[in-house]
Amino acid sequence: MLDLSKKERHLLLNKLIQSFEQFYEHTDKLPVAPKLSKEEIKNFITDRSIESHEDAFDHVLEGLSKYAVHTPHPMYYGLFNPRSSFAGMAADTLTAFFNPQMAAWSHAPFAVEVEEYLIKELGIKFGFKEASIDGAFCSGGAEANLTAMICAAQFKFPGLKSGGWKSIPENPVIHCSEEAHHSVIKAAIITGLGSDAVRPVRTGSDLKMDIHDLHTKIIEDIHLKNTPFLVIATEGVTGTGVIDDIKQILTLKEKYGFWLHADAAYGGAVILSDVYKDLLSGIEKADSITFDAHKWLSVPMGAGIFITSHPEIMKQSFGLKTEYMPKDAEGMEVTDPFTHTIQWSRRFTGLKLYLSVLFYGWEGLAKAIDYQIKIGAYLKAELKKAGWKIYNSTSLPVVCFGKDSFEHNKEGINSFCQHVIGTGRTWISVYKIKEMYALRACITNYNTSKENIDELIQILDNSKF
Ligand SMILES: *Cc1c(COP(=O)(O)O)cnc(C)c1O
Repeated sequence: MLDLSKKERHLLLNKLIQSFEQFYEHTDKLPVAPKLSKEEIKNFITDRSIESHEDAFDHVLEGLSKYAVHTPHPMYYGLFNPRSSFAGMAADTLTAFFNPQMAAWSHAPFAVEVEEYLIKELGIKFGFKEASIDGAFCSGGAEANLTAMICAAQFKFPGLKSGGWKSIPENPVIHCSEEAHHSVIKAAIITGLGSDAVRPVRTGSDLKMDIHDLHTKIIEDIHLKNTPFLVIATEGVTGTGVIDDIKQILTLKEKYGFWLHADAAYGGAVILSDVYKDLLSGIEKADSITFDAHKWLSVPMGAGIFITSHPEIMKQSFGLKTEYMPKDAEGMEVTDPFTHTIQWSRRFTGLKLYLSVLFYGWEGLAKAIDYQIKIGAYLKAELKKAGWKIYNSTSLPVVCFGKDSFEHNKEGINSFCQHVIGTGRTWISVYKIKEMYALRACITNYNTSKENIDELIQILDNSKF
């Protein structure tokens, strides 16, 4: 009933391919950021005139082109939003067409096995023992961090799954850097622990979680009869790109027995690189890891990944039985994703990564990471040459920069930043580090070139006032 005629399908598919190609080939010709007017966009949506399917297509294409920050643009120096690789886009399109339902293994055995294979491969790369690896693809890092919090709590308080918090006499608390991603706080809210259960640990002058402050806060909590059950190390802080030192945290883990979660949503990608994987040294001893393929492996959103070295904990945390779910694979040695994850109906998220690995190999993806780190180093060097002050120190291609006159001038730096964005040629942001305002730029696109960096420096130069 909703199918189109073959003739019209072909017409629209051709149009689709042409518009894909137009966007892919000429991303760098688009203005990076749109002018923001809610009124204009609302009117665009409601005042449409559509007489054919082709019109509908054109309307949507216009909306997507005109009213979005084009994160795949090589001059988008923003948050960790990559340009999607061809493999990633093709995979997501295939997923939409075939629409495998992965809740139960027997409905989508290929898809479920592909994801299990990828989780194993990544777990091994992170240094986990093959037999102990479990995990799941998630909507994103936020869901992966939530999964980690639930597993950590279930591990420490085994009665939790059936009895809930009221059955736990302890008062559970979580420790992470004050620079940790706010999805940790959201997870505390969702689990019912509450945001106050998250203890922000100070960062040192290197902007990493200060291990002495972590130790002090843990002791304080124990004195207050609280139970520190989870410590989160951020491997690639969203704002500054710094990597918390896991090896230091491990000495405290031995003493206090907390679950150690590594939020490597962004920085986890360097595990593929022979040159940079040592930056994550110690991660092999973590109890769980968050990693986002859609951050730095250049696949479309969202492709979060949760990996744990406790093979039973996900089943213990989320397992249940139903009458209505398919039982075709009963008696087989398989795991139904709905029995060990948060999601129920499940999209084939892993295909984006699988097809990328088939296209480029893990080595190809590693090369793209190494290249972007190199371009990041070039950006840092050019900024210094142009007289900018640099506030963060990290091997990852994230740079926080500014000047003395901006440090306590919120309005000044914001209007400078808006001026830069207003050129339509690039996108950067403002980030506050230890009460000081800085500009932030990040390389997150495998196509960003030295020429693009030179143009950014020039725009910054011209925007000086
Ligand atoms: C992006 C990010 C998250 C959240 O991940 P989403 O995929 O946006 O849900 C969590 N932690 C860190 C360190 C991140 O950079």
